[in-house]
Amino acid sequence: MAGLLKRKRLAVITIAYWFLLTYIVTALIFWFLSLVRQSRQMSDYKLLQLKKDDPGYVARVAEIQNEEKRKVTQYTGEGATFMLLILLGAVFVYRAARRQIRLSAQQRNFMMAVTHELKTPIAVTKLNIETLLRRKLEEQQQQKLLSNTLRESDRLNVLCDNILLASQFDAGDYLPEKEIVDLSALVQESAAYFKTRFPQQHVAENIEPDIYMKGDRLMLQLAVNNLIENAIKYSGRQQPVEVVLCRNKKTILLKVKDQGKGISRKERKRIFEKFYRSGDENTRNTKGTGLGLYLTKRIISNHNGHIAVQDNIPSGCIFAISLHVTENSS
Ligand code: ADP
Repeated sequence: MAGLLKRKRLAVITIAYWFLLTYIVTALIFWFLSLVRQSRQMSDYKLLQLKKDDPGYVARVAEIQNEEKRKVTQYTGEGATFMLLILLGAVFVYRAARRQIRLSAQQRNFMMAVTHELKTPIAVTKLNIETLLRRKLEEQQQQKLLSNTLRESDRLNVLCDNILLASQFDAGDYLPEKEIVDLSALVQESAAYFKTRFPQQHVAENIEPDIYMKGDRLMLQLAVNNLIENAIKYSGRQQPVEVVLCRNKKTILLKVKDQGKGISRKERKRIFEKFYRSGDENTRNTKGTGLGLYLTKRIISNHNGHIAVQDNIPSGCIFAISLHVTENSS
């Protein structure tokens, strides 16, 4: 209901905006035509006042006609400048307003998602601890509940880290701690982590050993984890995921491939935006906050790298990252 009201209000504002803009442009054209007509009338009037037998008649006629031409050129120039400024301003305002509306919708979605993401681990942890306190369980069951609780607290931790990091990026407070990182080992660890976390998921690895780069280990880990987690999350548990790391001269290539439903060309432009998630929070059934790819892109840019998304064949997508090799001197 609230959504419908907001959409209606948005439609009214958009119509009012376009109406006003059309009115301003029409008024400007009208004023231009009126001024041109007025200056022509003035010239005609001045020509009528002239006497044909006057020796300076021809020169005077030329002068009046020149003056009229000058006036028309002046009106055209000024009118075109005004029109250009108005149109540029209108485009700027329209784009800024659209960005603002989008961002506030995404923020609303984010608040809903984050509340859900915070509440779930807290509720699971509480329930597990209550069960452990109330019942005398067998060792194996206790272990299961405890590792489940640990996993949930890990999730909470990642969520808090992501929110904190996003605000650091926004405030320009993020200071990378750069060291020589064994990227091959890092990617291997990430893949191993997800294999343990999702034992039924097939995660294939093709990781070239001894690839080093200068970077912030924790941030790079977060970026790689985000991509593998997304590949698993958006491709369904039955579909295999592949992680490829290789080097080509001075360039490192990291690819995370999945065979899910892929990402449409239209959405590809937006998935790296902060809080962007496809679909609507009320209808979506995957968990998330829309911060993962935003952070991943920021991290990769901070390491002078590049991230892109491509189609996978026959289905799904490939997130491809390119970074710069650092020779390990140790
Ligand atoms: P989150 O996963 O928390 O929603 P992300 O920033 O990681 O946020 O991803 C943004 C959006 O990009 C997701 O909501 C999803 O729609 C899309 N997306 C990301 N990775 C994939 C993928 N591997 N396959 C399909 N869609 C994806």
